[in-house]
Amino acid sequence: MKYKNRVRSRISNLKDPKNPGLRRNVLAGNIDLSRIATMSAEEMASDELKQLRNVLTQEAIREHQMAKTGGTSTDLLQCSKCKKRNCTYNQVQTRSADEPMTTFVLCNECGNRWKFC
Ligand SMILES: [Zn+2]
Repeated sequence: MKYKNRVRSRISNLKDPKNPGLRRNVLAGNIDLSRIATMSAEEMASDELKQLRNVLTQEAIREHQMAKTGGTSTDLLQCSKCKKRNCTYNQVQTRSADEPMTTFVLCNECGNRWKFC
């Protein structure tokens, strides 16, 4: 077990049953074997991690859409780009409930977006 942990080699990565995609790609010749040696951990990430990344991407899209639809108009916030005070903001609970709300601001003049944490 100790030995296995220490090695955690790229070979074991290829044999990882959770990562059939990588092995399939190698077998299909989509990935050059010499390239595996230089692949980043991210590139070698299992499908599981890829799914997680998809979820995060979905969340980012959702945030984007929330900032687009509705929101509260305010002239208290000033756009750093065009210096106008014609903004719309949304407060979004991005992570767990015990974390503070994130405020997304959209400038109605130039479309600049930013956020307060
Ligand atoms: Zn602006």
